[in-house]
Amino acid sequence: MPLVTSKEMFKKAYEGGYAIGAFNVNNMEIVQGITEACKEENAPVILQVSKGARAYANHTYLVKLVEAAVIECPDIPVVLHLDHGPDFETCKACIDGGFTSVMIDGSHLSFEENIAVTKKVVEYAHDHGVVVEGELGTLAGIEDEVVVESGKESYTRPEEVEEFVTKTGVDSLAIAIGTSHGAYKFTPEQCTLNEDGILVPPALRFDILEEVSKRLPEFPIVLHGSSSVPQDYVKMVNEFGGKMPNAIGVPESQLRMAAASSVCKINIDSDLRLAMTGTIRKFYAENPSKFDPREYLKPARANIKEIVRHKLVNVLGCAGKADEIMALYK
Ligand SMILES: [Zn+2]
Repeated sequence: MPLVTSKEMFKKAYEGGYAIGAFNVNNMEIVQGITEACKEENAPVILQVSKGARAYANHTYLVKLVEAAVIECPDIPVVLHLDHGPDFETCKACIDGGFTSVMIDGSHLSFEENIAVTKKVVEYAHDHGVVVEGELGTLAGIEDEVVVESGKESYTRPEEVEEFVTKTGVDSLAIAIGTSHGAYKFTPEQCTLNEDGILVPPALRFDILEEVSKRLPEFPIVLHGSSSVPQDYVKMVNEFGGKMPNAIGVPESQLRMAAASSVCKINIDSDLRLAMTGTIRKFYAENPSKFDPREYLKPARANIKEIVRHKLVNVLGCAGKADEIMALYK
């Protein structure tokens, strides 16, 4: 099965009350960790590449790594997606260069400018059999080169979504309902303390999600910035020389609720970064004389695989769903 678009995945995810995991890839070990988990759990997957990933690893290397994963995992559907395409040219380069899905992020532009650039990307993408994700509303936080200062974020305005989708022709829409990029999604001041002394972040704006879904029936919604920042990995990082105080993510129970609704794609990156960094820090601390990169990348890859498996089974609900999507292609 060659790379596919997300069209069939989103159709099944919407009907079935689950979401597809969109995981960011930057090197071979990350691609392998994610896809080995998806292969074993029989889960569809979106591998996404940011502008920063293309700058780091080079477009061709990333495409070939993903193509290798497709060969190794012939029984699961795999999408190669551009995350936060900053302009038409970057989207075009990815469409011409083997991607099956792109995001054009015009969320920092005016509503009219966002529509114009998104429409331009959609026209080119659809001519080439590629699907497009747009964005309305802005998330706080930092993701590669997408930086939104705290206080400059804005929730999606439901009254704008129909016009945006109709005028642009996008295939899916990322909305802002309180998730945020990076490992510091909320300040301790925004959180409340539960009885165990653990910081609980504010709830996502499910009222906005509901209103958007009402206006766009059967239309796939995307959530960015949806890492949960597992505290055992934050602890591991801090215990072995790291410094990540007050790293806080979105509770998995809220993401599970979102996945059961119109949300068909959930982006997770920071949790994989944390698993990799925590594991490597621990390895260095416990094995100061070792210097073979394979020795620390191997457990890092294994822990990426396990955290992805956990997301597929317990958060996204897409484990075991590869077959019903593959059947649509036969
Ligand atoms: Zn994002």
